Amino acid sequence: RAKSAGGNRAELADPEADARAITRHGLTTALPSALERGEFFIEYQPLVHLGDGTVSGAEALVRWLHPQHGVLGPDRFIPLAEHTGLIVPLGRWVLEESIRQARAWREKTAGPLRINVNLSPCQLTHPGLVQDTVDILERAGVTPDALCLEVTESALIGADDGLLKPLRRLAEMGVDIALDDFGTGYSNLANLRRLPVSVLKLDRSFTQGMQQYPADPVDLKIVEGIVSLAHSLDLAVTVEGVETSAQADQLRLLGCDTAQGWYYARPGPPEHLHTLALADATG
Ligand code: C2E
Ligand code: MG
Ligand code: MG
Ligand code: MG
Repeated sequence: RAKSAGGNRAELADPEADARAITRHGLTTALPSALERGEFFIEYQPLVHLGDGTVSGAEALVRWLHPQHGVLGPDRFIPLAEHTGLIVPLGRWVLEESIRQARAWREKTAGPLRINVNLSPCQLTHPGLVQDTVDILERAGVTPDALCLEVTESALIGADDGLLKPLRRLAEMGVDIALDDFGTGYSNLANLRRLPVSVLKLDRSFTQGMQQYPADPVDLKIVEGIVSLAHSLDLAVTVEGVETSAQADQLRLLGCDTAQGWYYARPGPPEHLHTLALADATG
């Protein structure tokens, strides 16, 4: 085995690293047939208005029911799918399936529920994105305002006009664009004006800073500043990872608009959202 550079200590073979590499390789090669065989499924996590606790929509989170390994979370396979390009057909499937759900919810609840769908950077650069989205919405008979696409802040850092153009077209059609994991990407705040986004999704790390009551004063100041900047630019603020009532209370006081997290509901099957939204509708 390789010796570490400069030293003469032989590096030990790492059987766990080997097993991980094999699994990664195995998972990567299994991805295309998994899509064909329908092994992916989507869980939906409600988003609620912080003001009155009613459901405003849900985020679609993809999972893989692997025949040997059981349910795998997106962190296990999305990077692999991005690497091989399978993310494009997989992402299209997630979009189609989620929008079908959004239609069902809107029919059942007669409310303006929205579905949030995550987009990978590779999907942004794929030339079919706008047309695919238009087609999927039309086939489902759903208006663009039912859809919010989430793009991470890091995917848009330094984005040139070529990358922003498809997002601008979608935004002009009425699709909302959210900047996901906001606050982790060192983006220039002035840059926000250039981006066709209408929602900032504050990263979970900020929510974690609100676990104590009262929260750390520096954390409070930072979130307060982001919220006021966002609102002055006409952006709504969503917070993710809300796990306790103390977090919910403080984030509401700071003026955040919507929230998502285990305190309200874990990601779950679509029927779950029907129940929550119907409960709102019937008071
Ligand atoms: P994300 O978009 O930031 O999604 C939020 C993540 O936080 C989800 O993890 C969700 O289950 C988790 N979460 C929600 N509430 C709480 C909470 O109160 N506490 C904690 N600790 N966690 C909470 P998940 O489902 O494992 O997804 C991880 C990431 O995978 C997502 O982060 C997103 O970037 C990516 N992802 C998921 N589905 C898709 C997809 O269809 N396409 C693409 N490209 N990426 C996806
Ligand atoms: Mg997201
Ligand atoms: Mg997020
Ligand atoms: Mg996140």
